[in-house]
Amino acid sequence: MAEEKNTCDEIIFDSETASTLVKDLRKNFLSGKTKSYEWRVEQLKSVIKMIDENEQEILDSLRIDLSKPQLEAFVSEVSLTKSACTVALKELKKWMKPEKVGTSLTTFPSSAEIVSEPLGVILIISAWNYPFLLSLDPVIGAIAAGNSVVLKPSEISPATSSLLKRFAEKYLDSSAIRVIEGAVPETSALLEQKWDKILYTGNGRVGRIVMAAAAKHLTPVVLELGGKSPVVVDSNIDLKVATRRIAAGKWGCNNGQACIAPDYIITTKSFAPKLIDAFKCTLEEFFGENQLESKDISRIVNSNHFARLEKFLDEDKVADTIVLGGKRDKTNLKIAPTILLDAPEDSLIMNEEIFGPLLPIVTVDKVEDSFDIIRSRSKPLAAYLFTNDKKLQKEFVSSISAGGMLINDTTLHLTVHTLPFGGVGESGTGAYHGKFSFDTFSHKKGVLYRGFQGDASARYPPYTLRKQRL
Ligand code: NAD
Repeated sequence: MAEEKNTCDEIIFDSETASTLVKDLRKNFLSGKTKSYEWRVEQLKSVIKMIDENEQEILDSLRIDLSKPQLEAFVSEVSLTKSACTVALKELKKWMKPEKVGTSLTTFPSSAEIVSEPLGVILIISAWNYPFLLSLDPVIGAIAAGNSVVLKPSEISPATSSLLKRFAEKYLDSSAIRVIEGAVPETSALLEQKWDKILYTGNGRVGRIVMAAAAKHLTPVVLELGGKSPVVVDSNIDLKVATRRIAAGKWGCNNGQACIAPDYIITTKSFAPKLIDAFKCTLEEFFGENQLESKDISRIVNSNHFARLEKFLDEDKVADTIVLGGKRDKTNLKIAPTILLDAPEDSLIMNEEIFGPLLPIVTVDKVEDSFDIIRSRSKPLAAYLFTNDKKLQKEFVSSISAGGMLINDTTLHLTVHTLPFGGVGESGTGAYHGKFSFDTFSHKKGVLYRGFQGDASARYPPYTLRKQRL
């Protein structure tokens, strides 16, 4: 409806069409249609149907966009999206139910409740690295909460973006749920509009653009950003299990192109050689001897990101610190799992989010010294600790601020729907997943009910001396 064709047959999506789109969706939202339990359930069931009927096509699009291995794509994108939807369907009635709360003496007699009401028209802007999950997971939350929603997938994963548009048109109620494809011009046109909430997933530079645009309309935002997520490795661990879990979270998650992938390791000087040897064995076990040719590892998404990662490796002061891997294949956009030891503190790789298969190890004298290193940096999206020392675990949890934490594993906290997923400080603001998604896209309206009895005159003027003494 809001899209027009020009003479070259290209779709123009500008500010005017974006405005028409939002007006239409708002009109539909105000009709009350999306608020009903039945509409929400119908749409959520359609999301599941869409996944079930098109599983192979979804996996194919992820292979085209990222050469994501089929099993990895199934587990981390298809299955997680489906389970987010299943949880919402199962819990929706409970989530929607007003919550009875106590009242105070000043309002006696009265009763009170917190009503979850949909916010209105939601904009979701998603990123390329998990293009299916990061697009639909928040859409599921927005639908569950009874909103209209526009999804703008990333242009960097075009196969999945176009699949999402086609599927949304086929399976979902297009009077309330729309997918708009495009890059900066289309997103900018969308950002000019007044939304009731924006959820953006991506880097902090664009996060600032989104927040500034939202501020013009006092629109609240959820920013799902990234950062450098540290892994602290103590020496009293099961080394084999630890390296497998770190390797799975790094190279087994889109070849390090994941927001919660381990960004760097901190361990002691004396333990680092053992850790590197263990990584060598694990990487050979996972990806064979010629890791550049492994079918079980995603490629770098495009030549811009490949060049960004090459810049980290080619910095003069860093080249000598590569202790494992380092091989690249520019034609096929592949970089082998690479480990660096003690890259200089002021190097690019130690200061920018890596978002790729490079893993620097920083060494310290005592494992406790790692805390100051983490605290001296921006708050990460995730922080990981491997240790059997319960006291160290407690200190880590109480003294490190991070979006989320996981002890003795990596990345799996994202799969636990009872935990909020989101950043803190520069790694983001707001959270979603499970009930947190429902809450993120709802307004919690406090409602107080009173009758006409117990109308104490003490609260009314004239404020006599006697009333003041009460
Ligand atoms: P991206 O390039 O796909 O950009 C994200 C979205 O922003 C896209 O839809 C894109 O069209 C839009 N965009 C880009 N430039 C824009 C502009 N100038 N104005 C308006 N919109 C614009 O993804 P990315 O930023 O490369 O994603 C990687 C980053 O995202 C990393 O920092 C990563 O840690 C973070 N990330 C965070 C999460 C999370 O859940 N917290 C998940 C995935 C990725």
